[in-house]
Amino acid sequence: MPDWQTLIRDVRDFPRPGVTFKDITPLLADADGYAAAIDAMAAPWRGVALDAVLGIEARGFILGAALARALGTGFVPIRKPGKLPGRTHAQAYALEYGSDRLEIHADDLPPGARVLIVDDVLATGGTLRAALALARRQGALVVGAAVLLEIAALGGRADWDDAVALEVTVGY
Ligand code: AMP
Repeated sequence: MPDWQTLIRDVRDFPRPGVTFKDITPLLADADGYAAAIDAMAAPWRGVALDAVLGIEARGFILGAALARALGTGFVPIRKPGKLPGRTHAQAYALEYGSDRLEIHADDLPPGARVLIVDDVLATGGTLRAALALARRQGALVVGAAVLLEIAALGGRADWDDAVALEVTVGY
């Protein structure tokens, strides 16, 4: 395991009993660790034609914006409801209890823009699948998705569209 991976902290029973939260804040606070993690996430996409990274609020912004700079692309936020001022597309998705919604500006990218979707953790996969649907509705061509961590036991890959490359940097 590369040293930087030891900076990801397990917080038991957060945000509720039974959940082990993968806390990346110690990694982000460490200059070398943050740089190494971004380098590792960027590696599979170097040389791939991309117009933009789409980062999912909120930790997908922190990783996605840095990845956009590393890969020389633009950055487009996928946000929680009611945060974007322009015309938006929206996608609802199921949570363990209830549902949530993600939004993207309808006009941030031209149709056919080649994009990479970025988030910190793949757990059940609902968030990433909603982002994929949203990006397609916006007219983007989704080249791939990148997450820093996958909690494989939750089976989040099961319903992923195999036509879209999914790169995981650290698996659990
Ligand atoms: P899911 O939709 O179940 O794949 O959950 C992924 C989203 O929830 C990501 O945006 C993560 O930031 C967050 N998330 C889910 N489970 C965890 C976890 N164990 N630790 C940290 N973040 C998590």
